Amino acid sequence: MKKILLLGASGSIGTQTVDIIRSHPEELQLVGASVGKNREYLESLLQTFSLEYVYCIDTDLELESRYPNTRFYFGSDGLNRIVKEESYDLLVNALVGFAGFKPTLLAINEGKNIALANKETLVAGGDIIMKAVKEKGVDLYPIDSEHSAIFQCLQGHEKKDVRRLIITGSGGSFRDLKREELADVTLKDALKHPVWSMGAKITIDSATMMNKGFEVMEAHHLFDIDYDHIDVILHKQSIVHSMVEYEDGSTIAQLGAPDMHLAIKYALLYPRHKADEKTSRLDWDMLTSLDFKKMDYKRYPLVKLAKDVGKYGGNFGAILIGANDEAVSLFLHERIKFCEIESYIFRTLEAARFVKDPEPEEIIRANQWAIEYVDSLWANS
Ligand code: NAD
Ligand code: MG
Repeated sequence: MKKILLLGASGSIGTQTVDIIRSHPEELQLVGASVGKNREYLESLLQTFSLEYVYCIDTDLELESRYPNTRFYFGSDGLNRIVKEESYDLLVNALVGFAGFKPTLLAINEGKNIALANKETLVAGGDIIMKAVKEKGVDLYPIDSEHSAIFQCLQGHEKKDVRRLIITGSGGSFRDLKREELADVTLKDALKHPVWSMGAKITIDSATMMNKGFEVMEAHHLFDIDYDHIDVILHKQSIVHSMVEYEDGSTIAQLGAPDMHLAIKYALLYPRHKADEKTSRLDWDMLTSLDFKKMDYKRYPLVKLAKDVGKYGGNFGAILIGANDEAVSLFLHERIKFCEIESYIFRTLEAARFVKDPEPEEIIRANQWAIEYVDSLWANS
């Protein structure tokens, strides 16, 4: 029985993870969970599972008094404390944004295995996280669909035979628009992803393709492949989730319906490929073709920027995450236009001070600086 602590349980990945745990009671047990503000969802989890510990941001003594067998954590430091609980084996991190970084690092340092959806953790502090993973000898399972695909394509092969990783991208909500047509797009349109149903922040990251840039950085850290051997290719249908090309010319791809259950389940039940009532399958009789198109870095400059930031290393990943988290938040509150997300990110990186080998505290500082810098750009605009 694998005992799971799930952070971000009320989100898109979080609720799908709960479905999977519920479908595999003989192997998976939810022992702890966190939500941000969604008290109703937390209560539904408390009623369904016998949770040993839970977290929500706002102190709720009334809820706590009704579940005397559960330990409650609240407040800004609560996520960092709940991950120090002993009884779980696997931390599933489905938080959104930089909030995922420190709890992940603390859990690794406690010797816990990690299933990671929260890509911001690796983009902001991948060197620190992967060093801790190695030192502690823990397992890190990717939940992002592209990285789950690559992880699957690498099974049973030698890393020295890998020529390159090929990450596929759908192109996001505005993939059929030219750059000059982006000036007046709305929040409502940006939130309509053509293929995937996801949380709001990653849907915007997909529309700007910052998400694809993050995924290149995530792949670099997870699989220890240099940036010149990680490529992006456009693939509208999101059926080929990503590929690995080997030195002998063979390319191995992982295919499936665009459904995050697949990637989450593989991370939780690795190395099994098990069915359950939520399993979605490709209909090969209906699938007549697969489309691919060369990546256009001029159309999507944030993908190129992410590669450059990754090559620089140091604290720049943390600055990129801070700038993007805050700019996307401003856009989600309809305070800036879609195109301004990109320009705020570029301007923040241009103003940033580079620190070569940052400690975790410097990562947190750099991220906070970037948030404040974006806010100052907005206040002065
Ligand atoms: P979401 O917005 O739907 O859910 C985020 C969860 O985190 C919620 O439970 C929310 O309450 C919690 N949360 C947010 N800020 C918090 C804070 N400061 N403190 C405590 N809790 C907080 O997000 P999502 O779409 O599920 O994405 C989660 C992560 O997975 C992101 O990093 C995203 O990039 C990645 N991811 C998501 C998908 C997808 O299909 N949704 C696919 C691939 C990767
Ligand atoms: Mg992805």
